[in-house]
Amino acid sequence: MKKPEHRCSGHSHRGYVFQSGQCVFSGKVERDGKWWCGTHDPVRVKERRDKIDADYEAKIARQRDASEKSAKASYNKVWNAAIDAVLESPIDDGRGAFVTVATIESLRR
Ligand SMILES: [Zn+2]
Repeated sequence: MKKPEHRCSGHSHRGYVFQSGQCVFSGKVERDGKWWCGTHDPVRVKERRDKIDADYEAKIARQRDASEKSAKASYNKVWNAAIDAVLESPIDDGRGAFVTVATIESLRR
């Protein structure tokens, strides 16, 4: 007995540019009474879309992390430059100067 053939219910844009229609592949899985090929199976489509979403989220998170790091680095650069500027200016009081320099140095990031 020949296995019944089902066409995929998905839409295909294969072929000529202006020709689009039903997918040319035979249905491999049935979902809610409709047949789908491996490409158009709604479960597979969702999986692919979820993966794209997850990749996008991860990319955004990486970019955010990188930009936070870079913002922190430039903030620290300015901060340390300010400390250098303070340390280069003469401090009159000898005893106080030691504490002040140590305190300022401790603020380096
Ligand atoms: Zn298909």
